[in-house]
Amino acid sequence: MKCSEDGIFSEGELRRYGPIELSPASGVLNYGQGLFEGLKAYRKEDGSILLFRPQENALRMRMGAERMCMASPSVEQFVEAVKLTVLANKRWVPPTGKGSLYLRPLLMGSGALLGVSPSPEYTFLIYASPVGNYFKEGSAPINLVVENDYPRAAPGGTGGVKAIGNYAPVMKAQKKAKENGYSDVLYLDSTHKKYLEEVSACNIFVVKDKIISTPEIKGTILPGITRRSVIDIARAQGYQVEERAVSVEELLDADEVFCTGTAVVVSPVGSITYLGRRVEYESKGVGAVSREVYSALTRLQMGLAEDKMGWTMQIN
Ligand code: PMP
Repeated sequence: MKCSEDGIFSEGELRRYGPIELSPASGVLNYGQGLFEGLKAYRKEDGSILLFRPQENALRMRMGAERMCMASPSVEQFVEAVKLTVLANKRWVPPTGKGSLYLRPLLMGSGALLGVSPSPEYTFLIYASPVGNYFKEGSAPINLVVENDYPRAAPGGTGGVKAIGNYAPVMKAQKKAKENGYSDVLYLDSTHKKYLEEVSACNIFVVKDKIISTPEIKGTILPGITRRSVIDIARAQGYQVEERAVSVEELLDADEVFCTGTAVVVSPVGSITYLGRRVEYESKGVGAVSREVYSALTRLQMGLAEDKMGWTMQIN
């Protein structure tokens, strides 16, 4: 699906997966005018397919497009394109409980322009792939290392949107962490190097004395759709949930820690290493809260529980 300077996207088309044509002078290749999203389609036991809150992905892409001076498809166009992509790839949606079909919407400046300026044309596309667990640990607890040298985002930057350019700068930290045997990196705020931000592709939660805390949304972390859903689920289950600045000391002192994201779902954290000190959680990672919210969230996503929140969208 494309749009030119009027910013209105035309009707799209379904194509077989394969290379796309792009001008060498395009805004995405030269100036990083690119955004992406990630969402999943799940198969219900009766064979039908559910999407989880696709409108939220559409809205987040539109928010990112506004920040990056890009045109973006309407929420309706986005959701319709997701539906068409899933329906065309129906046979790749795994059976209930065996994974999901991951959808990757991409929005990019595809028009050619030499100077630094918003692209005169945008392209929106979606590709899909069946997926299982994100971490090699599967559903077992992951081991995180707190990164002290490379912050992920600066205040006023694009950390709050899903810009393609947010990911390459931290690959170095992630590579180092993996070489040292960690599952992933937890980033701290760039100003004080004291408060938790997020992990490479997920948000973080800490639990202490049954109170759940997670870093507030203030422009430097991604407003995760799973994060928002887990907050609402936990509150509905009677937990107190606080969105606020959470310090690294609180993390090390927590009873339980877990991460949330479309790809990682709810992943328990078994250990954190900060400046060479390793803390293992009493819960050995799979704490009661993460187990409870994981179960409630995934049952909803797979259509195994009644969707009182109205978050799922049946597409066939
Ligand atoms: N933070 C970052 C940096 C991410 O890339 C993601 C994945 N989209 C998340 C958090 C989690 O967001 P969501 O729950 O919407 O997948």
